[in-house]
Amino acid sequence: MNRRKFLRNIALSAAALSSPISFSAFGEPTKKVARSGKLNLSFEPYELKLRHSFNLAKYSRTTTPDVQVRLEYDGIIGYGEASMPPYLGESVNSVTSFLSKLDLSQFSDPFRIEDIHEYMETVAPDNRAAKASVDIALHDLLGKIMGQPWYKIWGLNPDKAPDTSFTIGIDKADVVRKKVDEASPYNVLKVKMGLDNDKELVDIIREKTNRPICVDANQGWDNKEKALEMCYWLAERNCLFVEQPMPKEKIDETAWLRERSPLPIIADEFLQRLPDVRRASQAYDGINIKLMKSTGMHEAYKMAILAKSLGMKVMLGCMTETSCAVTAAAQLSPMVDWADLDGNLLIANDIFDGIKIINGKVTIPERPGIGIIPL
Ligand code: MG
Repeated sequence: MNRRKFLRNIALSAAALSSPISFSAFGEPTKKVARSGKLNLSFEPYELKLRHSFNLAKYSRTTTPDVQVRLEYDGIIGYGEASMPPYLGESVNSVTSFLSKLDLSQFSDPFRIEDIHEYMETVAPDNRAAKASVDIALHDLLGKIMGQPWYKIWGLNPDKAPDTSFTIGIDKADVVRKKVDEASPYNVLKVKMGLDNDKELVDIIREKTNRPICVDANQGWDNKEKALEMCYWLAERNCLFVEQPMPKEKIDETAWLRERSPLPIIADEFLQRLPDVRRASQAYDGINIKLMKSTGMHEAYKMAILAKSLGMKVMLGCMTETSCAVTAAAQLSPMVDWADLDGNLLIANDIFDGIKIINGKVTIPERPGIGIIPL
């Protein structure tokens, strides 16, 4: 079944449940609905096609497996998504298997976010992207019921959303130059490092632009002295911070580096969820929160608050995802120091309208829920 048919079938089956209703562009009922009072979960695999092959220090790929999720309650539909870059250990099979085990119809009150998360933890540990897909759909649904976007529900000022960085992946020199040209609307660039040509990559970018660069080494630097030398070299070239410079197991070496580095050291692969934040504060200056690691928006919000209370920097990242999960993450963006919300721009087959980058800045749609509409 293609994506559009799936969306149409979901709308039709939801309509059949509580006929007669029809749906607005937001997936909201336009007529009075016979209330079912139950959460109905449905899902469908969807392969994301990348615009450029994605080359990191440890692997390369041209697609990302993904599962699209819908959560219906009284004729209102919330959209969610699980994106599964292979290094995180989840797959279409693991996500659909986890989602198949869930019985959300037991929750007659969809506002029991805490109870629903507690229930998901009892079904199986880990499965963070699978749990995130339900969490995002639930937030979309609840925001639509309340008629407000989540940044407003959280009391955040959208004017405080930062610029987003745009990722320039490791590649041949001519491809890097082309990617820098493509990145001209963005005020901040992000560079993936961890191979032998790290300095060459920055030099090529600096031939074309002096815009600030966020550096992500993706655990690629094994030696702490080499990592420190790189931090000094990068600091002289208008770089803002270094994300996950060393393997996540090398905690003492990272703490050593943090003490000496002129640039902030940010944890990404090192941390996943809320209990990891305090642990990260021992070796890192900040954390990179991603919904696919944090089990979604609910825990991501708590992580941002805890990290700030510990005096840490907060960065908001994403995987290659459709505008669904990226726009959900954007709801948190007014809380963070740096945003890396370009995942939807790196795919060729997005299926939602949502987050916009205007003058380089994260701009959250004025729509209820997570702020997306299906294309
Ligand atoms: Mg990273």
